Amino acid sequence: MTTAEEFYAYYTQSGAAGWFNRLGPLRQAIIRCDGPAVLEILKSRCEIDPENLGGCWIWVGAKRSGYGFIGRGPTNRLAHRVAYEAARSFTEDLGSLTVHHKCGRRLCINPHHLALATHLENTAEMFGRQAFKARISALEDALRLLDPTHPLLKRLPKPLPPEETISREEQ
Ligand SMILES: [Zn+2]
Repeated sequence: MTTAEEFYAYYTQSGAAGWFNRLGPLRQAIIRCDGPAVLEILKSRCEIDPENLGGCWIWVGAKRSGYGFIGRGPTNRLAHRVAYEAARSFTEDLGSLTVHHKCGRRLCINPHHLALATHLENTAEMFGRQAFKARISALEDALRLLDPTHPLLKRLPKPLPPEETISREEQ
């Protein structure tokens, strides 16, 4: 197991130093596990209401799927996950755990607005979705009794099987 200090020392020694120095300041700070420096850089890429310093830090950099996004290549990261880790100086391994937005704004990266979802919470969400689907089925059944030809009850037509497409082309 390599500590952050050993890792940093290794990559800044002669030969590897060129590789490290070519990285941007954010990546360098992440490799050094320098939480406060990472947060400062991330903050500079956000819109923050000066009247409300405890408010949302709205990411204005690159985005993916509605979330703030950092970098290219294999070290791509979601900005709010990096912010969560940086606030804890990269001492927590998030693994596959979800970082939730307590403020409900996907672009916010204020660490105080972020919380790790426990397995229990993820499971509760999953059950919530199942209950929602069951409710839709019940409503469809009720609608079927009132108006069996209602357009909302129509299923999407099945796509043409590939065999038929081929035989039609051959004719
Ligand atoms: Zn927020």
